[in-house]
Amino acid sequence: MLTNPKADQGLAALPPSLLAPRTNITGGRFAAARSGQTLDVACPSDGGVFSSIPRSDADDVDEAVRAAHQAFHEGPWATFSALDRGRLITKLMGIVDREADALAALESRDTGKPVRLGRADVNAALRYLEFYGGAADKLTGETIPFLDGHTALTLRVPHGVVASIIPWNYPLHMVSRLIGAACGMGNTLVLKPAEDASLSALRFAELALEAGFPAGVINVVTGLGPEAGAALAAHPLVDFVTFTGSSATGAVIQALAARHNRGTSMELGGKSAQILFADADVDAALPVIQNAIIQNAGQTCSAGSRLLVDRRIHGAVIEALAERFSRLVAAPHWQDGDLGPMINAKQAERVRGFIARARSEGARLAAQGGIADGAPSGGHYVPPALFDDVPPESELFRDEVFGPVLAVTPFEDEAEAARLANATDFGLVAGVWTRDGGRQHRMAKRIRAGQVFINAYGAGGGVELPFGGFGRSGHGREKGMEFLRHMSATKTVVFNHG
Ligand code: ADP
Repeated sequence: MLTNPKADQGLAALPPSLLAPRTNITGGRFAAARSGQTLDVACPSDGGVFSSIPRSDADDVDEAVRAAHQAFHEGPWATFSALDRGRLITKLMGIVDREADALAALESRDTGKPVRLGRADVNAALRYLEFYGGAADKLTGETIPFLDGHTALTLRVPHGVVASIIPWNYPLHMVSRLIGAACGMGNTLVLKPAEDASLSALRFAELALEAGFPAGVINVVTGLGPEAGAALAAHPLVDFVTFTGSSATGAVIQALAARHNRGTSMELGGKSAQILFADADVDAALPVIQNAIIQNAGQTCSAGSRLLVDRRIHGAVIEALAERFSRLVAAPHWQDGDLGPMINAKQAERVRGFIARARSEGARLAAQGGIADGAPSGGHYVPPALFDDVPPESELFRDEVFGPVLAVTPFEDEAEAARLANATDFGLVAGVWTRDGGRQHRMAKRIRAGQVFINAYGAGGGVELPFGGFGRSGHGREKGMEFLRHMSATKTVVFNHG
């Protein structure tokens, strides 16, 4: 059923079972949508349909949430100690490792990302499971000085049923950290992956069953956002909602969760700036700056999509970057090129629209890469673009493109650099490049972002590092120990012992 015989070259052949029409995983069972409806699964590299997933509706979601509710309140899950849960996550890690080649190939085929990136995503998933497998029994409460004759302490307790709606850009990262943190804390999970990339999440849930997660602890329901996603976010038996995706959809999901006053965690978009000062090690910075916008074809919430550059080195930096960008090539995932296609035709059109409008807003196209010879015409390729002199009031400076488009704007001094860095509604990540130690600290304090890297940049990187944003970038922190705290609530217990 491969749409292109050259696909997945160099990787283990995908077992036919992974390409067959898929089902939801609900209460430990494999179930088609009750309506029988399906959605086609297409490969972004050539547009070819190679599988299908259930188009679930509110009834299917209800069944999954009830299964998660029952597993939380009545099943064996509640008897698992934190150590047991951690060991189960570690066991899942071993199984995912065994399946690493096939999972990587599946992810690349489903999302169009270059094969090395599919493999990197599996490695990240393994690292999340390693981290949370070890961390599940490390989160402690506190004792609180209180009235004489009393002892007061806090327990960290799970929310209950955690609903999670995730996007198509890094499903393996998100599924593994959700299982790690949500299930590590003792919650049960209902996951709605994106309609454009559901296969790895379904496979992961299957592997979790093999590892021994009790039925109903991890449920995956596929379908469209306004149907399955909305039904999940609004379900009265859901106790907490986590969402990763666009700011606009995040607002819709918060409103749905608010119907029952449920807590939410929102990991939304970004317009993250890298700030390059004249005293920086420019040679070290440039490849990192390039990669931060090219990685996953720019379809990364924490992409370094703006470059603020000291006017004194502006000309030389643009020249060097233009040389780099003009050599970049978008290619089918099996060619493992600099970047792959956009996820779908709509996203490719959206990015092309930004590129077309940027020129009319006064920005200068300094360089644009190409598309690989022989790339299938059904693929959604957009050559990477480098724009210079991007005005701070322009759309390209302020709005998230979610594509391989870097917006460069020069600055005069440190104060202007900080002001420009903060001049969007987003606040996710920033990178500061300077050798001046004082300036490193000043900038880290002044920039409003959930993560600030100094002489480095990690687009979403760092399993151990709390990740999340301010403003339109959302609220709540995923990753690291902080995500475990977020996947739990504080319960205070007071003993009167006289
Ligand atoms: P995109 O538009 O690029 O797909 P979204 O942020 O809209 O990005 O999608 C991220 C996730 O949110 C996907 O799983 C999608 O199905 C889901 N989603 C989209 N719209 C809604 C909605 N109205 N209610 C609930 N979930 C939604």
